[in-house]
Parts: sequence; C-alpha cells; structure tokens
Amino acid sequence: MGIEATDGDAARLCASCGICCDGSLFGRVDLETDAIETARKKKLRVVAGGRAFEQPCSAHAGAHGAERACAIYDERPRACRKFVCRLLARHEREGGALEPRLLAVRRTRELLAEVQAMSPEQARKSAAFAELTRRLEEDFARA
Ligand code: SF4
Ligand code: SF4
Repeated sequence: MGIEATDGDAARLCASCGICCDGSLFGRVDLETDAIETARKKKLRVVAGGRAFEQPCSAHAGAHGAERACAIYDERPRACRKFVCRLLARHEREGGALEPRLLAVRRTRELLAEVQAMSPEQARKSAAFAELTRRLEEDFARA
C-alpha cells in the first residue's frame, strides 16, 4: 500500500512485497465516504456499508499471479497512500543497499507460506511462527 515511494528503490521494494495488500497484515482497510464510489468502480470488495474494503485486495496484481503491485495505483484509497511500513520507512530514512530489504521481504513471505500450511496448534509452537511474529513487528508494522 505504501507504494508512495519517491525513489526507484523504494518502488521496487513495494513491488516485490505487497504484504500490506494481500491480507497478510490486514483483513479490512477503511474507506472514507468520498472514496466509496471509486472503490466500487475499481471493483474493490467494499463491505460494511461502504466503510471498508476487504483484503486480500482485488486490485493487488499478485492476486492474479502477476507482479506484486497495485493495479489502481493512481486511484488507490487514502488509507493505502498513508500506510508506510517500518521496513520502507527505514529504507527511505537510511538509504543503503536494497538487497537486504528485499531479502527481508522474501524471508517473511517464506515464513507466511510455512505458517499458513500448518494447523493453528502446530503454528503456535513453531520456530517459524516466532520468527514471523518478530519480523512482522520489526519490519511490517506501521512506521
Ligand atoms: S488498492 Fe492498491 S494499494 Fe490499496 S490495498 Fe489494494 S492493491 Fe494495495
Ligand atoms: S508492507 Fe511495506 S514494503 Fe511491503 S508493500 Fe507495504 S509498504 Fe511496501
């Protein structure tokens, strides 16, 4: 969502990620009243009488097996424009090599897949769940 990236590196990071669009972090995203019509036109899955849309987001290109990016980028809702995760914020603040950030995304996606394949009981006791919880907090919470 925070694909508000101003430089090419940050845009690449978000395009490789989509964790804030695919349902990994959020079940629903708030919609403001003036955004409902566009959201409906763009076929977001609007719920709660227009107060929110559901994730995994139908505009998330990763949902269609393509690159992970927003298909309605220029018209995405305000909540999407405002979300910036800690990993992206750190990169924008500190700069440096992009590769370690891309690796953090890759590792988190691996852990998400691993944990989703487990039963809730197995997941709770697993090292993968502990690492995933730490990474989500350190890198993907709102900055
Ligand atoms: S509208 Fe775009 S930025 Fe917002 S959740 Fe969907 S894919 Fe992500
Ligand atoms: S979770 Fe962070 S890095 Fe990933 S798409 Fe969202 S803002 Fe970009």
